[in-house]
Parts: sequence; structure tokens; C-alpha cells
Amino acid sequence: MIKVNNLQHTFLIGKKGKEKRVPVLRNVTFDVKQGEIVAIVGKSGSGKSTLLQTIAGFMKPEHGSILVNAQEIAAFNEAQSAKFRLENFGFIFQNFQLMPSLTAFENIELPLKLQGMNVMERRKRVEIIMKKVGLNEVADHFPNELSGGQQQRVSIARALVTNAPILLADEPTGSLDSETEQDILMLIQQLNRELNLTFIIITHDEEVAMIANKRFRMHDGELVKEGEQHVV
Ligand code: ADP
Ligand code: MG
Repeated sequence: MIKVNNLQHTFLIGKKGKEKRVPVLRNVTFDVKQGEIVAIVGKSGSGKSTLLQTIAGFMKPEHGSILVNAQEIAAFNEAQSAKFRLENFGFIFQNFQLMPSLTAFENIELPLKLQGMNVMERRKRVEIIMKKVGLNEVADHFPNELSGGQQQRVSIARALVTNAPILLADEPTGSLDSETEQDILMLIQQLNRELNLTFIIITHDEEVAMIANKRFRMHDGELVKEGEQHVV
């Protein structure tokens, strides 16, 4: 489903004329099959978020190829990337990134509004997805009236509501206590199983990496595969 080949990127850091070149992605090559949970584990600063931003099309890599269902998305212009993103990727962030002035329901509804879906269809979709992630009781709550775990459920529901087949998660449990972390990891596994969703999860937490079918370790911009294992 996803084939990343020879991805390279360098940041220029420092004052003009005295810039330092810092390689942040070095020949990153890996693939992800449909329905897999893939974990990319690595220390802070190793390049994990840059890799995810590149796959999502927020950043252009200097070199390399990103094929998603045989489409070369690294070559897309901004408009093409934005369209592709809306249809194919859902995002889950460490800090949830919910709109504080919108209720749980409205936060989840937002991507559908962006897609131009009509109000009846939107309501139906949001209600189904809220039920699926266990949020039906708190539809009218604002983010600051929800626990961390509930906020992450809202953000996961928002990622799912467009039926995007690929979920990109950057430290999805990084702001949660360990009990809530387990709940969210179980939810991710349930969604993976029931909806055959593909997850790429970036983390520095070995507990999170445990739920993956396939693990990679990122070190100074280099990605190395760990043992493959079947998760039931
Ligand atoms: P991680 O997510 O693994 O913590 P990042 O991908 O955020 O790592 O960052 C990798 C490296 O690239 C870090 O050294 C970081 O300081 C640097 N970096 C990230 N974004 C930029 C940028 N926009 N400009 C310059 N350097 C950056
Ligand atoms: Mg990061």
C-alpha cells in the first residue's frame, strides 16, 4: 500500500552564510501493507516527525519516492497533496489538536465540512463514529470539559470520520497516563481489526511499539527494521 524508497532530506540550520547542513532523513526505505500497524520508534530528534510530515505531504523531501497505491505522492504540488491528504490520511497527534471553541461533535464533523458534505449525511457519519470510539455521551462537551483520554478519542474519531484508509499518529499516547494509554492502544487495535485500517505510529514508547505488526527504529535519520511479528 505504501512504499517509501530512498527518502532523503537535509535541513539548513543557523545564520545566513553560516548555515550548517543537518541530514534528517538518510535513505529511508520501508513499506507498509494494507491493514498493518507499523511503529517507528526512536529518540527525540531522530527524524520521526519529519518522516511523517513528508509522507503526509506537508513537506517535500529532497530526494526519494513515496508511493501510495502506486501513486507517486512525493511529486504532488500543494493542491494535489492537500486533496490526497483529505481523502487518504487521518491524523492523530500527541496534543490532540482539537478546536477549543467547537464541541466534540463539531470537532469530529469538521473534516466532513471541508469535504463539502451535506448536514444530514455529516450528522449520520459523526454519530456512527462517536459510538464506535465510545463518545456518544459527551457529544456536546467542549475539549476542556473532556479528559485526556476522551480528547484523544475525539481526535481519533475526527481522523476516522472521512473513511481515510491510512492513519498517521505522532506520539498518540504521549500526553496520557499509563492506564489511559492502554485504553487508546486497545482502541487502535480494535479499529485496525474491525475496519482494516492501516496505522503508522511514531513513538518513543516501547509499550506503544508492542501493538505493531512491524517495527522500525529511527536513529539519526536512518531507519532500520526490527523483527517482524504476527500480532493477534
Ligand atoms: P523527532 O520527531 O524524532 O523528535 P524531528 O523530525 O522533529 O525529530 O526532528 C529531527 C531533526 O531535525 C532535529 O534535529 C530537529 O531539530 C531538526 N528539525 C526539525 N524540523 C526542522 C526545521 N523545520 N528546520 C530545521 N531543523 C529542523
Ligand atoms: Mg517528533
